[in-house]
Amino acid sequence: MAITANLGYPRIGARRELKRALEGYWQGKVGADDLRARAAAIRAANWAAQRDAGIDLIPANDFSLYDHVLDTIALVGAVPPRYGWDGGAVDLDLYFALARGEQDARRDVPALEMTKWFDTNYHYLVPEFRPGQVFRLSGTKPFDEFAEARALGVAARPVLLGPVSFLLLGKVRPEDAPGGAFDPLVELLDPLVAVYAEVVGRLAAQGAEWIQLDEPCFVQDRGPREWAALRRAYTALAAAKGGAKILVQTYFGHVGESYETLAALPVDGLGLDFVRDPENLDLLERHGFPADKRLAAGVVDGRNVWRADLDAALALLERLARRVPSERLIVGPSCSLQFVPLDIALEPAGEFDVVRPWLAFARQKLDEVAALRRGLDEGRGAVAADLDVARRALDDRRRSPRTRDPEVRRRLAAVTPALERRASPFAARRAAQRAALGLPPFPTTTIGSFPQTAEVRRARAQWKQGALTQEGYDAFIAGQIAALIRRQEALGLDVLVHGEFERGDMVEYFGEQLAGFALTTHGWVQSYGSRYVRPPILYGDVRRPRPMTVRWSAYAQSLTPKPVKAMLTGPVTILEWSFVRDDQPRADTARQVALALRDEVADLEAAGLRVIQIDEPALREGLPLRRAAWGDYLDWAVRAYRLASSGAADATQIHSHMCYSEFNDIIAAIADLDADVITIENSRSDLELLDVFRRFRYDHEIGPGVYDIHSPRVPPAAEMAANLRAAMTVLDRDLLWVNPDCGLKTRDWPETIAALRNMVAAAHDLRGAVVGV
Ligand code: GLN
Ligand code: ZN
Repeated sequence: MAITANLGYPRIGARRELKRALEGYWQGKVGADDLRARAAAIRAANWAAQRDAGIDLIPANDFSLYDHVLDTIALVGAVPPRYGWDGGAVDLDLYFALARGEQDARRDVPALEMTKWFDTNYHYLVPEFRPGQVFRLSGTKPFDEFAEARALGVAARPVLLGPVSFLLLGKVRPEDAPGGAFDPLVELLDPLVAVYAEVVGRLAAQGAEWIQLDEPCFVQDRGPREWAALRRAYTALAAAKGGAKILVQTYFGHVGESYETLAALPVDGLGLDFVRDPENLDLLERHGFPADKRLAAGVVDGRNVWRADLDAALALLERLARRVPSERLIVGPSCSLQFVPLDIALEPAGEFDVVRPWLAFARQKLDEVAALRRGLDEGRGAVAADLDVARRALDDRRRSPRTRDPEVRRRLAAVTPALERRASPFAARRAAQRAALGLPPFPTTTIGSFPQTAEVRRARAQWKQGALTQEGYDAFIAGQIAALIRRQEALGLDVLVHGEFERGDMVEYFGEQLAGFALTTHGWVQSYGSRYVRPPILYGDVRRPRPMTVRWSAYAQSLTPKPVKAMLTGPVTILEWSFVRDDQPRADTARQVALALRDEVADLEAAGLRVIQIDEPALREGLPLRRAAWGDYLDWAVRAYRLASSGAADATQIHSHMCYSEFNDIIAAIADLDADVITIENSRSDLELLDVFRRFRYDHEIGPGVYDIHSPRVPPAAEMAANLRAAMTVLDRDLLWVNPDCGLKTRDWPETIAALRNMVAAAHDLRGAVVGV
């Protein structure tokens, strides 16, 4: 008989209990014991749900107070020296200092760097490695949580981030390894694995039957250097595991050229994702699967919210069972379920009921796993009812007029390449825009949002709950916009914005207005730490029933003679930050969104807006995990952007904004967007950025952010001017814009005003010094 497993479960609690507990702790309103008790209650509920669903191998240590990579940093004592660690156990306060930075009498340290977890919208804290680094077991979390599960009657499978991926996910700060010859994978593997061996040995001694070690880095392009590390690490761990069995788990894609190395490791099981792409099945059929291992087959999609096609998943399992006898098969999701909302039963009845039958959240995915296991072992008849429900839901979804809109499809089919090109080349547009806008050299602007104060959030919440009328809310927003226009004029900014006060989230706002999207009430997923998002569900053909942003942009423009920049979210970002339909290529969905945005651009122009920004902060994070797939992705992503923006007249200035500065890999695609102006993040990594533009001649207008909005610090004007002068060494001076490096939504007013005042002063300084105006 096959068994069932899960790889990880949402950590945040059904009612976001973890957020309240954590934020209460940070504010000093919740004590440490209380925080621990609330976290334990979430774990207990999770274990009970998984046991009730019939999962045999239930994860422990998948929970985290903040992030599982940070947990690993704490477990092995990989704490950078600047945190003043004494080498003892990593306590809660040090843990949160690493996560969030700390500024008080005890420490004055920024947080560890945070970055996206593979191609998800989850962020992890980046480990730092240095030559000669010492690791030591510095925590007891996996042991404690394993024991805690056992006390509740659950014989759990502890999960750890594997040592090789841990090293590959980290970074070496240039100042820590002058000369740059240091390779953590070679120099730190043995000392790190020694600590892992201690952990594995201790879990085995506690009675763990299985231990899951995640090595997701092996779904990326890898070679002999990483394979050698993998063999070395798992040979050592195999010697330490006592009576326990080790599963090496991969996810988010196929393991490609690493398959044979993984299959030959001296471990007891290998976990593969069979959902993301067909290659793993192909690898297994071509090379066979080792007789000494269990195969953990990820057959239910852990990354998306669609109900599984149980017939297809069962057929896949039956096919696998021809190679791997079912007593060696473990049926499970394709990855941890932390990337999907907890439970669809939490969603209230109403509009959502249209899509409800088509969906499966984490709790429902467990049922799918259990049904598939039974179907495999006992035959399709044993799960006929489950198969039938799934089949009918799928059929309903396929046939629903909500998923297929003939008019949208007709329009998309009629798109010609000409629609992906602006009417004139950049030089001609630039002349028309200069004449229309009359901007000074080094024009100043912002990225769109201004502080979303408690007052703004309260008004929106009251309006959503019906406590504030539509008229009352509209009047409130109008007041915010009018005040912001006056403030920007007083500051002397050149291109103004309306401030985005009406938007809770830059994707949700469009999801609420476009046909083809459903929104959840409780469908939160963790983005980082205690920050959660509720991604819209893009389930059907996308249509724009009415203008979405024209009202507030036009209102803002009516208040000032200066140009106001309208704000849209680009097609790629809307897709990246939503749960996207899986029944057609993403490229097609992106083009539908692009057409809706194209209409919005036309309406904005008609309403008198002369500058329109289409943000694409997620362009880079959508980059596929394997390089071979980059070209195809960048091609459709760029074409979708151009389809959205190219209807604009020559004199209309199209801006785009991107929240990162690691452009090396995609600079050509960014240039290909053909946006008249791009604004980018820069202030934290000037050197890297300058390097890109030394190698690639960027010839459209560009605003490399002159100050970091992620910090409350207000840099002096001279510092911002110096940043601009540095940019002038690689970029043509009359291409340069002056702006912060991202939206100001999360900042306070006083620091915003102070920083923008300095920014405008820096622009004036350059105009005087460089251009003589
Ligand atoms: N226009 C958005 C803002 O200013 C852009 C946000 C982003 O880059 N993520 O908030
Ligand atoms: Zn940004």
